[in-house]
Amino acid sequence: MIFSEFSKRISTALIAIILLAIVVSFAGLVHNIDQKNINELNSDFTINSSYYIDKTNNTDLNNILSNTDFIASKLNNIPYALAQQSYWIKLFLHYPIDKTSITTSAQKSFIQGSGNKQLILMAEHSMLDTFIVYQLNALTAPEKIYQKRAKSKELSQNIYPYARLQLNQFGHSEYLIKVKNSGPPNIPLLLFTPQDFEQRVLLSQLIYGAFIGILLIMAIYNLVLFFADKDKVYLLYIGYLLSAFALLSSLTGYGYFLFSDQVMQLLNKYIIFTHFLLIIFLLLFTLYFLRYDRLKHWAYKYSLIFTIVISSLGLYSLSLDELTQAKLFFSLQPLFYIVVLFLILNRLKRDFLWARFYFLSWLPLLAGAIIQPLVLLNQLEYSFLTGNAFLFAIMIEVTFMAFALAERIRRNEQEKLTMVAYHQSNHLPRQTNLDHKISQLIAEGKQNFTVIVIKPEQFHRIELYINEQICIQFFQKVYLKLSSLFRFNDAVLNITEQFEKLCYLENSSLAIVIDNSLNEQDIALFINSIQQAVRDVFYIKDLKLPLSAYVGLAKFSAHDSSSTSMINNASIAANKAELTQNKWTYFTQKDNQSSPSSIQLAIDLQQAITTQGFELFHQPQIDLKTNKVCGSECLIRWHHPTLGHVSPDIFIPVAEDFGLIPSLTLWVVETALSQQAALTQNTGLNHMVSINISGKDLIQANFIDDITKIINRSDIKAEKIIFELTESVSFAQNNIAIETIESLIKLGITISLDDFGTGYASMSQINQLPFQELKIDREFVENVCSNNKRKVIAEAAVKMAKGLGLEVVAEGINSSLDEETLRCFGCDIGQGYYYAKPMSYERYLSWLNHLSNGQIPASLEGEYIPAPLKDAN
Ligand code: C2E
Ligand code: MG
Ligand code: MG
Repeated sequence: MIFSEFSKRISTALIAIILLAIVVSFAGLVHNIDQKNINELNSDFTINSSYYIDKTNNTDLNNILSNTDFIASKLNNIPYALAQQSYWIKLFLHYPIDKTSITTSAQKSFIQGSGNKQLILMAEHSMLDTFIVYQLNALTAPEKIYQKRAKSKELSQNIYPYARLQLNQFGHSEYLIKVKNSGPPNIPLLLFTPQDFEQRVLLSQLIYGAFIGILLIMAIYNLVLFFADKDKVYLLYIGYLLSAFALLSSLTGYGYFLFSDQVMQLLNKYIIFTHFLLIIFLLLFTLYFLRYDRLKHWAYKYSLIFTIVISSLGLYSLSLDELTQAKLFFSLQPLFYIVVLFLILNRLKRDFLWARFYFLSWLPLLAGAIIQPLVLLNQLEYSFLTGNAFLFAIMIEVTFMAFALAERIRRNEQEKLTMVAYHQSNHLPRQTNLDHKISQLIAEGKQNFTVIVIKPEQFHRIELYINEQICIQFFQKVYLKLSSLFRFNDAVLNITEQFEKLCYLENSSLAIVIDNSLNEQDIALFINSIQQAVRDVFYIKDLKLPLSAYVGLAKFSAHDSSSTSMINNASIAANKAELTQNKWTYFTQKDNQSSPSSIQLAIDLQQAITTQGFELFHQPQIDLKTNKVCGSECLIRWHHPTLGHVSPDIFIPVAEDFGLIPSLTLWVVETALSQQAALTQNTGLNHMVSINISGKDLIQANFIDDITKIINRSDIKAEKIIFELTESVSFAQNNIAIETIESLIKLGITISLDDFGTGYASMSQINQLPFQELKIDREFVENVCSNNKRKVIAEAAVKMAKGLGLEVVAEGINSSLDEETLRCFGCDIGQGYYYAKPMSYERYLSWLNHLSNGQIPASLEGEYIPAPLKDAN
């Protein structure tokens, strides 16, 4: 990590040095270009110039020659202005003709290079309307030696119009120049030796080529980004690049290399409109790049309005003449820069690295955008650097922007990762971090670790009283407290690169992973400290609650070697911890029965339902008054292909949870009725049949219809059917369930309240609900005499039920003493192992066939019943 940090710094420093070297050599190059321009500072030429401004635009040559109003001025200090006027310039060149006194390279090349004694007079202005050069001679009339044509065959004449000045052998030459322009007023006039001129042209072509190259690469780069990211910010940037390209093609004249004359005429015509386009794209780009659109910041709305105003003015400017257009644009430009700078500075306050890059990229752009118009408007002296300031600025800006865009993409990716790694609401690390850590440990072959789940005590109940915000704050407090507790504890492993050790689980708990370096005693102390820490911050609003946390631990086992199952196991242990004194416990494989394997059980159950893999057993019920069998309870049996016999106490709740119960119940009812019909037919007995129904069945929309259909299909009358409902299902509150019960009663079915005494049914509910039978749970019946409390409860239950006019069944009669006791209390029916265990249909049939006169015969003793003593009364 330290190494990578180090190498990162080295590479950053290297890149910085390379960039610096490029900038220095570039500055040197540019300086060199300016040096080639012959002026009094860098040559032995004496250059005198004077100018006359012809506002009428139609003074003829003779008038000008006789004109004495010429004002002496340096060649590049002529006060060009944004107006329709012509400039007449007189240029006097004095130069030594003695070869021995030639010292400067410019002179050498001038004398030696061409041999023609030539200089090149170049006007750095591609949009010149008029550029005429006369050679003045004292003896002869002025000789026109150059005139710029509207469309020159020589391409470079369109870009940088130039005249070849033939110098005479006397050491001084005199010229008269007429210039008039459209577009930017400043007309830099430069003098070169022919050789230097060629170099100058070559270099500026190179720079312009580089400019186009950078722009093109950036445009393609942004296009690729747009297709990858679908973010319109990249399109806006491409818009900006294209308008910058169009603008500079026209400003520098280099567009002539790429476009036809017609296109260039168009570009030149709409040059101010291109300026407008450029700033519109830049403004929109700034807004989207700095994400003002997503923030819905007021600045976003105002900037949009500003953009619309600029766009309208841009469109309006098309109707104006070029001069007014330019004035309008240049007066708006400062306002535009203020707005954009505000937008950038406002975002700089936030931790936006890419905003910083963007800011950096704007500095040269801003400098360029200020310098260039000043040069064009002749407010600032021309040099190659200042004259092309905007071009250079865009080149530097675009380079910085590449960094800014890359940084922005990196940030976007990071944000996406953050969304995966942290909860949106409470900003705590998500379970994914822990999953990742555990997978990493497993991949490294480490097995000596334990996952710990920390569950604030009673939180699921407290949650009902508080809002989401308080809940978030509570967990943030617990998180902070525990984080500082674990900070210097190396046994608690980091789960993120930011050295975070805790994560928040969806089920309102926190989790950590520890290595197994702690012994049992240390673990106990460690968990105590966790519970103490939670206790310390257990405030809900300002209410300090005397609560701590349940803690569940799950050690790595090859059995459950996935992160999810380890966290699940630790959560199961935390739930189990609720019932322990210390409120913490380890997960054991036994705890697992209910959770993950439930899904497999549900899958197997569904399979069994479709393949009818169940069997229905019968357990007889005995009328305690007559000792005759009066009916049987049907109990489902499932022989699982691998697990063997699975108790209904295990799979019925699973069937209920996974929505499988309705089809299971219909199978039971269908089978029970068909077996009952067969029993009646075979034995001639007309018994009752009790069927267990789940509370979930009662709220099924088609339940009554389905049951009615089954009864109608069978030979059993509804009056012979008893539906047993488990008391623990609180259907008293559920109107639909009550309606269903009432409909069942209307059908003729008897409703029995099963497992009475173990659930939640209150006396008032029993009074309200339409039951006809009550089954006292075997908890109070089995060995009823061994415990006085049981006896009291069983007796009270029977008395109460009898008092309410209900039939009473006692299940779990295990002995004659149980039977006798219940009979004495007034119980009507008995059911239990004393008479018979539940048995298959065939065995039940033969069991019934052994009855003598419907009563349990002595011959069956030992097989199903422990020798009941029968009392006729
Ligand atoms: P339950 O309805 O209270 O059924 C009585 C349970 O007590 C049966 O257990 C039965 O085997 C057992 N039992 C009967 N006499 C004695 C006794 O003297 N001593 C002891 N120790 N136990 C006795 P089983 O068959 O395991 O059923 C357990 C529970 O599963 C049932 O309790 C019932 O709630 C549910 N169940 C069974 N079959 C079905 C069914 O077809 N549908 C639905 N929804 N639930 C069923
Ligand atoms: Mg039952
Ligand atoms: Mg029961």
